[in-house]
Amino acid sequence: MAFYITTPIYYVNAEPHIGHAYTTVVADALARFHRLMGEETRFQTGTDEHGDKVQEAAQKAGLPVREFVDRISATFRQTWDELGISYDVFIRTTSPEHIKVVQEVLARLYETGDIYFGEYGGLYCFGCERFYLERELENGLCPDHQVAPTFIKEENYFFRMSRYQDWLIGYIEDHPDWIRPERYKNEVLGFLRLLPSGACPGAYLCLLTNATWPMSGSTPCSTTSPACATLTGPSTGPSGRRPSTLLPRTS
Ligand SMILES: [Zn+2]
Repeated sequence: MAFYITTPIYYVNAEPHIGHAYTTVVADALARFHRLMGEETRFQTGTDEHGDKVQEAAQKAGLPVREFVDRISATFRQTWDELGISYDVFIRTTSPEHIKVVQEVLARLYETGDIYFGEYGGLYCFGCERFYLERELENGLCPDHQVAPTFIKEENYFFRMSRYQDWLIGYIEDHPDWIRPERYKNEVLGFLRLLPSGACPGAYLCLLTNATWPMSGSTPCSTTSPACATLTGPSTGPSGRRPSTLLPRTS
């Protein structure tokens, strides 16, 4: 049997802390266990270097963004090496290999119509960098930041979740051990059932954000595949910024 495990790819707006180390050590223990069992194992970790928050952190540190992310990413990697973490792959979202794969995947999704260009308006928390539904708020405030979200409208690329929503709900219900622990399974199911099916199907699973880093200047997307060029084609929204081709952060 093959075993695959990944940590979140950690966000590089600050240096690693004990929480990152805990997660990585736990993943390492699991990877070592499965290798000992003779299973083909792939253990992955890395850094997510995309987004406005990274750019802001670089500005605060008084460094060019590239230099800043190189430094923080290296600190993560060095920390794992010092802790003897047995990762097989260290992903950097700014690496040419990663960008190429993401572009290829997005181009394929775009060709099949799973990604579309549209407009979405909603309640947005700048701290979380995400939209909220009214029912997700606590007394009208973001549950994490305890501030009132702002209504914003943006043009962006969206994933056509409506095509997969019913199938995915059914699959999760038929495979109760697929997402564990159970409360996360319930959270995902709750989220999927909340999605409006119809008017703005993919609105809450926006794939592409308007972040300027790392897409400003020589954007890796501008000259490569035709489909990717189409993706950035009608790009500049009201703010004049390009959509990025990188997935939202997971850490
Ligand atoms: Zn928030």
